[in-house]
Amino acid sequence: MANDSRQAERERLCEEIRAEAKETAPYLGQEAFSESVMKALATVPRHLFVLPEYRRRAYENRPLPIGAGQTISQPYIVAAMSDLARVGPGDRVLEVGTGCGYQAAVLAELGCEVYSIERHESLVQMALGNLRAAGYERVHVKAGDGSRGWPEAAPFRAILVTAAAEGEVPRALVEQLAPGGRIVAPIEGKGRTWGFLHDQQLTVLVKDDQGAVTMQSLLPVAFVPLIENEAAPDRRSEST
Ligand code: SAH
Repeated sequence: MANDSRQAERERLCEEIRAEAKETAPYLGQEAFSESVMKALATVPRHLFVLPEYRRRAYENRPLPIGAGQTISQPYIVAAMSDLARVGPGDRVLEVGTGCGYQAAVLAELGCEVYSIERHESLVQMALGNLRAAGYERVHVKAGDGSRGWPEAAPFRAILVTAAAEGEVPRALVEQLAPGGRIVAPIEGKGRTWGFLHDQQLTVLVKDDQGAVTMQSLLPVAFVPLIENEAAPDRRSEST
């Protein structure tokens, strides 16, 4: 995607992300995100992924509501997760929690072959429309419970979970990760006794070439919950 009228705003956003990356270096163990990730953030038109009423604020470094009680992630977090996944052109990547499709677009911009699952049918439709409008038609999106992964498309070089799982990374996702691959996921402490205060850590799980798994908790974060083992919400009557 070439320059558009919001290019300057994207560049400014990238400067903010670079500054925040420096601040979080003690957590992530790195001062900066890769140039390819920063270039993707400077290219993907985030204003096409937010609701019309938030379009003006699309290049603030903040999450925004997207409907169905969900949010588009903060750009800094999208940059961090994309970087921690260590992916590049041709890598097959699974995203759990498509939302509006912005993270999926960033992965597509990085040259990845993207598979993304979202449990809200209405958001799947929104994401597909957004991705088409932004020129990322090749992203595969489907409705369903992403905690079960996408076995037909496995194994994946990387898996990004953009909703917080309780206690651990769902086992199906670990199984569908290729040797040498990485899962980047927010993990919520068991119990959730703090009410609205989150106890979540952005966690990186690495599977080595022999299949052994190691995990590292890196950064406190605040994601919406990963809803596991439930029927799709748009297919039953929901009172909320
Ligand atoms: N990736 C998005 C952020 C999405 S917010 C972005 O680029 O901004 C997290 C999303 O995860 C929500 O849309 C929520 O509906 C979805 N979600 C929660 N549990 C899920 C599950 N088990 N399977 C698939 N999607 C899930």
